[in-house]
Amino acid sequence: MCGIVGYIGHREAYPIILKGLKRLEYRGYDSAGIALFDGNDIKLCKTKGKVDDLEKKITKEISTTGSLGIGHTRWATHGVPNDVNSHPHYSNSGNLVIIHNGIIENYEPLKKELLKRGYKFTSDTDTEVLVNLIEDIKDNENIKLGKAVQIALNQVVGAYAIAVFDKNKPNEIVVARLGSPLAIGIGDDEFFIASDASPFIEYTNNAIYLEDEEMAIVRRHKEVNIRKIKDDSLVNPYVQELQINLEQIEKGGYDHFMLKEIYEQPHAIKDTYRGRLLTDKAIIKMAGIEDNMKKFLNANRIVVVACGTSWHAGLVSEYIFEDLARIPVEVEYASEFRYRNPVITENDVVIAISQSGETADTLAAIKLAKSKGAFVFGVCNVVGSSIARETDAGAYTHAGPEIGVASTKAFTTQITVLTLIALRLARAKGTISSSDYRHHLLELEMIPDKVAKALKSDEKVKEIANIYKDAKNFLYLGRGYNFPVALEGALKLKEISYIHAEGYPAAEMKHGPIALIDENMPIVVIATKKGHYDKIVSNIQEIKSRKGIIIGIVTKGDTMVKALADHVIEVPETMESLSPLVTTIPLQLLSYHIAVMLNKNVDQPRNLAKSVTVE
Ligand code: GLU
Repeated sequence: MCGIVGYIGHREAYPIILKGLKRLEYRGYDSAGIALFDGNDIKLCKTKGKVDDLEKKITKEISTTGSLGIGHTRWATHGVPNDVNSHPHYSNSGNLVIIHNGIIENYEPLKKELLKRGYKFTSDTDTEVLVNLIEDIKDNENIKLGKAVQIALNQVVGAYAIAVFDKNKPNEIVVARLGSPLAIGIGDDEFFIASDASPFIEYTNNAIYLEDEEMAIVRRHKEVNIRKIKDDSLVNPYVQELQINLEQIEKGGYDHFMLKEIYEQPHAIKDTYRGRLLTDKAIIKMAGIEDNMKKFLNANRIVVVACGTSWHAGLVSEYIFEDLARIPVEVEYASEFRYRNPVITENDVVIAISQSGETADTLAAIKLAKSKGAFVFGVCNVVGSSIARETDAGAYTHAGPEIGVASTKAFTTQITVLTLIALRLARAKGTISSSDYRHHLLELEMIPDKVAKALKSDEKVKEIANIYKDAKNFLYLGRGYNFPVALEGALKLKEISYIHAEGYPAAEMKHGPIALIDENMPIVVIATKKGHYDKIVSNIQEIKSRKGIIIGIVTKGDTMVKALADHVIEVPETMESLSPLVTTIPLQLLSYHIAVMLNKNVDQPRNLAKSVTVE
């Protein structure tokens, strides 16, 4: 995810683009860059860091005049955040310049082909491959930029929103989208291009939102020309009148970043398995695993180190790794692990999980594990973060920036990555049959749709939140794969609503927490069909006989729990090992609505920081 901005018209482009990038920083903030056409040539400046860093650097390096330009604020996916990998990217001749939001999945074979044809690459990005592919097509076929972009995009697999211009045709910007947003602001003889309307809202209320698989040629003094990328058919532009303010736009129309991120999960999970889960070929492709397969296959055990929500994702992975790949797993709090002289050898694989990749305790745990000779594998969201650098290998979650302090999409995308790893290892070890393996892949591919369906419970969850928002205590119960989900549900509620909540394995309830149950105690029970269903129904009966209030998270169409519970929230059916990805959704929504109803600061809860970079 990143922010892109462009301008073509009668004003100076630089101030518009710079301000636009600042507004888009919520979409990505590891590097920034701008390219302007000053009447003669392209002037380009880019840097690792924030838009503020770019602003400090740019006037020292280039003249910022020109009425056409593009700008980018990056959230790295391919190549660490550094000056060279920042956008915009030139083509080899220096004639074309591009900005890109998204992932070109097949960049490797395309790059190989271009290398054979003599192209050179300075960055590690997939984006530089795309701009050179466009150039190659344009030069070989002697065609216009727009046509070359179209042919190139028909060869590309992945997701993108791009803006590209040619210094020899400085009166047009070509834009296109598939899977990443792109809006064109229509001003008075001027056009704005942006990931959302925030960069141009003060100049115009009229905007065209490109649809997937559409491209547009935005020309000075002309109408916008929109075409379908696949078949070149013309599209009638639909100009929308915007009636939202700046803050609403940045949060995508949601009231809080947390809610936006909860709703982003179908997309984020897809981005996580994009290019890795190839169901048609029945394979999982992850470079970090393939390159180190021996380490994983020879491992005595896997030790997961993490903190907070990432620790809960790690706990889910314990079930998956043991169940599917038959590898023993221990899940450790990084803060405990680092100080307790753990027994770690070179036969252990340590998996470190952290959204930010900067969590201090997890970093220290990694260093300790490495000093004992273990192979350390990182799972984090921020490309080029300290954990990504300190580990021997790793896999990114590609969830895009998570701004809300309470983690939501980080949790589900971490589970997605860990599931992919477990499945890949299970296949390599032969601990899963090919039909079971295929079934898992197909089911994982359907998870984004099922998460989208689980999000439809929002109104129902809100009603329940309204009834129990004043409760002093909550209990969350789950078994098996859904025990960590119960912990995560309780953590979410504590974090943002400040209501005391505890997560427990449902059967453990009898060994203590059952004493807490009375008619004032709401108890959220994850009681989906697959896995320990009968046992959990018995647990529910035990609670009911003590007058506890049951909020059941059940599989769609369930009748048994419905008959016992005070409230049920339905989620779509999936296999047990993947169920945490859907059952966690209503729990996130429940904590969110309760916090909002209690007037709490949802995105920045008291005493908490987004990434815990201190012990
Ligand atoms: N894949 C591109 C990169 O890594 C674009 C990432 C983005 O959307 O910011 O540079």
